[in-house]
Amino acid sequence: MGVPLLDLKAHHEPLHKEIMAVLEQTFRSQAFILGPEVAKLEERVAAYSQTRYGIGVSSGTDALLLALMAIGVSPGDEVITTPYSFFATAGAVARLGAKPVLVDIVPRTYNIDPSKIAKAITARTKAIIPVHLYGQCADMGPILDLAQRHNLKVIEDAAQAIGAEYRDGRRAGSMGTVGCLSFFPSKNLGCLGDGGMVVTSDADLAERMKVMRVHGGKPKYYHKMIGGNFRLDTIQAAVLNVKLNYLDDWTQRRQENARRYETLFQQSGLVRKGNVRLPDPVYRDSGAKHYHIYNQFVLRVERRDELMAYLKQKGIGTEIYYPVPFHLQECFRYLGYKEGDFPESEGAAKDTVAIPIYPELTAAQQTEVVEAVTSFYA
Ligand SMILES: *Cc1c(COP(=O)(O)O)cnc(C)c1O
Repeated sequence: MGVPLLDLKAHHEPLHKEIMAVLEQTFRSQAFILGPEVAKLEERVAAYSQTRYGIGVSSGTDALLLALMAIGVSPGDEVITTPYSFFATAGAVARLGAKPVLVDIVPRTYNIDPSKIAKAITARTKAIIPVHLYGQCADMGPILDLAQRHNLKVIEDAAQAIGAEYRDGRRAGSMGTVGCLSFFPSKNLGCLGDGGMVVTSDADLAERMKVMRVHGGKPKYYHKMIGGNFRLDTIQAAVLNVKLNYLDDWTQRRQENARRYETLFQQSGLVRKGNVRLPDPVYRDSGAKHYHIYNQFVLRVERRDELMAYLKQKGIGTEIYYPVPFHLQECFRYLGYKEGDFPESEGAAKDTVAIPIYPELTAAQQTEVVEAVTSFYA
């Protein structure tokens, strides 16, 4: 039969009428820039993320860029982050002339290892960007302690983690100085194109980001700051205001799918034999409801590339997030890192693979995926 990695058709079909109605409404209004739909979404997503302010922006990438600009990251500054994330995390830092300083991950969660951050802090360090990879929060307790001790800002890259909760129930984006969200279609809350948001409870920072979103002009045409065009489209906000009503339901279904995979993979014997290692939801027993929101369900497997080719031939979608850690990217050669510098990230890049986990995935499809993986190792 085959199972795609993501099925947007199945995801959007039940919402077809509702979404078409707001598209029609927006088109009739002929008001396409900011306005009440964006303001409403900002209020709702800020509240959802347990923060006071939300500023809708053009993408998750621009959310990172705007946040870094607003905290004043400039050429010569250093920003500590993980080598193992989507390119934008380090790309945004480098675009401002600042230096991404990398710290390896914890293999259990694929998130930045707090115990290795202190050694990377220098007099030039301005901020830390923990990434809540795959939908599970980084270990924020020790990261926030360090940041406070060294007077550093913390920008949470929560692009894959809207509403994800740390062990104490605090949500992604609410713990640091500012949180960055993405509404790219493959994220848990996706729009019909590109979109994102920054969330914060710092009133001054929120105001600065709001002004910088429109080139830093306030009043219009009078510029005390240099910003950019980082606006979220009205039409995307209107769609997101519909989709946000379903987000908790989708999260629950992703969590149920994860549980089902766990059972199926345990029963298959692959885990016992060491062919497959399951994701580790480290906050599950803490009582946090959104302990993991499973933007991705990432396995650690033997003979990864052969397995992927085998599954592809059976019509099963997989993906590597991410095949090349930042320190081995050609464009970052100038940073002076070399192979072997971040062994955990390099290891993860070599043997992890994401399998389908989207909310509409059926039990039969999950059985098909697990049976295919089992037959590969048989
Ligand atoms: C998707 C993503 C981004 C960038 O978001 P876009 O909306 O695609 O620009 C940044 N960081 C991480 C970890 C992501 O997954």
